[in-house]
Amino acid sequence: MLSISNLQASIGDKQILKGINLTVQPGEVHAIMGPNGSGKSTLANVLAGREDYTVTDGSVLFDGKDLLDLSAEQRAAEGIFLAFQYPIEIPGVSTTNFLKTALNEIRKYRGQTPLDAVQFLKLMKERMKLVSIDQSLLSRSLNEGFSGGEKKRNEIFQMAMLEPKLAILDETDSGLDIDALRIVAEGVNKLRSPERSAIVVTHYQRLLDYIVPDFVHVLYKGRIVKSGPKELAYELEEKGYDWIIAEVEAAI
Ligand code: ADP
Ligand code: MG
Ligand code: MG
Repeated sequence: MLSISNLQASIGDKQILKGINLTVQPGEVHAIMGPNGSGKSTLANVLAGREDYTVTDGSVLFDGKDLLDLSAEQRAAEGIFLAFQYPIEIPGVSTTNFLKTALNEIRKYRGQTPLDAVQFLKLMKERMKLVSIDQSLLSRSLNEGFSGGEKKRNEIFQMAMLEPKLAILDETDSGLDIDALRIVAEGVNKLRSPERSAIVVTHYQRLLDYIVPDFVHVLYKGRIVKSGPKELAYELEEKGYDWIIAEVEAAI
């Protein structure tokens, strides 16, 4: 589904990603961990097609298509969803209207007919139930005055509506409180399926108590320096990153 090879990217003239190799198969959940500043958010943003990053080498194939040739909007339409890093506030635009527009843009791109008001409401009701979100939240301006937990629930709801093939979640360094973690994890777990994959970016191990990954990768200085099964996350929680950094530095 996703095949990243030798991906190199920079911000300005600073190289951040220095050759990332990663393959994600349908249905798999991959956790990306690593110390602060190692490039986790950069990787998530580069995959989603955020501007400010220059890809200097390597390739990314998504469902056989060259992802790097596509705009952020096209990537979203192809089924990539990036959550959490910067929950945007849009004054005057309700979540409902925002989602209706986004969903119908995606359908247009895929050559599907737009959903009318009745079809959209039906889908919304169904997905609201799935992620336990309150109607009142959806009629308010997107993210404006939302609590941390409400923003997360809202993003998970957006994800449930857009049904991405690949969801990328970036927990960010500040992290989520325990309630927000549960909300996120519950939503992600409900949306898990053999066709859908996720890349879960997290500095700490705790999110992975709730979203159990198939693989764990440690990113350090722009490279994946260690990969393993879910148990690697427990080892990291217990021992930190220093032992891996020591291994890497010794090998240079
Ligand atoms: P992580 O998510 O693993 O903490 P980031 O991807 O946020 O790491 O950052 C990787 C490196 O890129 C860090 O050294 C950081 O300082 C740098 N960086 C991130 N964003 C910018 C930016 N907008 N301009 C310059 N450097 C940046
Ligand atoms: Mg950081
Ligand atoms: Mg980050």
